[in-house]
Amino acid sequence: MVNTNSVDAYKEAVDLMPGGVNSPVRAFKSVGLDPIFMDKGKGSKITDVDGNTYIDYVLSWGPLILGHADERVTERLKEVVEKGTSLGTGSLTENQLAKMVIDRVPSIEMVRMVNSGTEATMSAIRLARGYTKRDLIVKFEGSYHGHGDSLLIKAGSGVATLGLPDSPGVPANIAKNTITVPYNDTESLKLAFEQFGDQIAAVIMEPVCGNMGVVPPKEGFLQNVRDITEQHGSLLIFDEVMSGFRVGYYSAQGHFDVIPDLTCLGKVIGGGLPVGAYGGKREIIEQIAPTGPIYQAGTLSGNPLAMTAGYESLAALTEASYEEINKKVDRLTEGFREAADKYNIPLHINRAGSMVGVFFTDQEVVDFETAQSSNLDYFAQYYRAMIEEGIFLPPSQFEGLFLSTAHSDEDIEKTIEAVHTAFSKIEK
Ligand code: PLP
Repeated sequence: MVNTNSVDAYKEAVDLMPGGVNSPVRAFKSVGLDPIFMDKGKGSKITDVDGNTYIDYVLSWGPLILGHADERVTERLKEVVEKGTSLGTGSLTENQLAKMVIDRVPSIEMVRMVNSGTEATMSAIRLARGYTKRDLIVKFEGSYHGHGDSLLIKAGSGVATLGLPDSPGVPANIAKNTITVPYNDTESLKLAFEQFGDQIAAVIMEPVCGNMGVVPPKEGFLQNVRDITEQHGSLLIFDEVMSGFRVGYYSAQGHFDVIPDLTCLGKVIGGGLPVGAYGGKREIIEQIAPTGPIYQAGTLSGNPLAMTAGYESLAALTEASYEEINKKVDRLTEGFREAADKYNIPLHINRAGSMVGVFFTDQEVVDFETAQSSNLDYFAQYYRAMIEEGIFLPPSQFEGLFLSTAHSDEDIEKTIEAVHTAFSKIEK
C-alpha cells in the first residue's frame, strides 16, 4: 500500500501540532503506525491522501450514522451556507433541532445547544451542582466524558489508549470532588452513597460505555443507579454523547427504558458538524441563564450550519433504519466469531445497537478491568492487517466500531473476509 503522501503530511504536521494531530487517539501510537491522513469520505468509504480507499468503521468517531457526505445533509448545507455561516441570534434552525431532540429523547423536556460533547458534560455537571447545591460527583472507571477537569479522572478513550495516569493540570482540589467506582458494580456504588450520599450532586454515566471499548450495562444496572440516585436526592446524568441516536431511535435511555434527570448529547446530533447539547427536566434546565442563575454561554452555540446538519441527519433516520443497521451488525459479529473459532483466537464481542467492541480475551468484558484483559499485541497485529485489507478501524482497543446506514451487505462480507485474513496472520 503506497502511503508516501500521508508520511509527508505527518512529517509536516508533527512540527505544527503536538503529535501532528488535534486529538490524541488520531496518532495511531498504540497500533505502531504513523497517522493516516484522510482526504475525503463518501457513504461507507473513506479515502486517504494517497488515494487508498477503506471501508470506514470510525465514521469520525461516531457522528456519521448516515455515512460520509450524505446528500440529504450536504445539499441542505449548501443552501444554508449561502444565508451566512453564523447569525449569533435565535434562529429557526435551532428551534427545528430542539423540537426533534425533545421529541426523540425521553428525558428531555428542554434543551441547550453547545458546540461539543465536552461542553455538554461540563455544563451538565455545573448545572447539577448548582441545582442540588452539592459538590461531589460520581463517575465510573474507564468512562470518558470529555476533557473537563472534573471528569478527566480514571478516564477511558485516549487516556486509556495512551496509558496515561490522570492528567497533570487537573488541580487536586478539583479531582477530590470526583468519586470513581467500577462500571456495572451496584454494590460499590451503594457503598459510595452510604458514605457520601448527602453530598453527591450527580452520578454521570455512559448508559452504554464506549470509551473502554464497548461495554453495555448488565441487566438491571441502569435501574439500580436510577433508584440509588433518587433515594439520595442526587441527579442522574446520562452521557449519551456516543450512544444518543445511535443505540436506538430513542437513544440508550429509550432502549433500556431508564430515564435520567439530565442527558448530554454530541456526535450524531451534529451530523458531522460541531454540536453538543444537554437537556432534561424543564424545572432543572430553567436554572440555566438567562432564566436561572447558573451561567453557561457560547458564541457559536446553535450555529445554523451545525443545526442543519444535525436536523437533516436525525430527520433521515427512522426506527426501521436502526433495524437495518442492526442486522448488518449481527452478520458482522457472527463473521468475527467464525474467524476467531477457525484461527483459535480468543475473542469477546460486546455490542449495543451499532456500537461494537472487539476484545482479544476469553473473559467476559463488563468493566474497565476486564476490558484491559484484551491482548493489545493481538489487537495491534489485527489492526495493521485490517488496514492492509482496506478496512479503517479506530486505532485503539478502547474505542468501539460504528456502522452506518450506508454500509452495504457487500461491505460487511468484505470486512469479514479481511477479518479471516487478519486473524490467520496473528503471531501468537
Ligand atoms: N462523552 C462521551 C461518552 C464521549 O464518547 C465523548 C467523546 O468521545 C465525549 C463525551 C466528548 O465529546 P467531544 O469529543 O465532542 O468533546
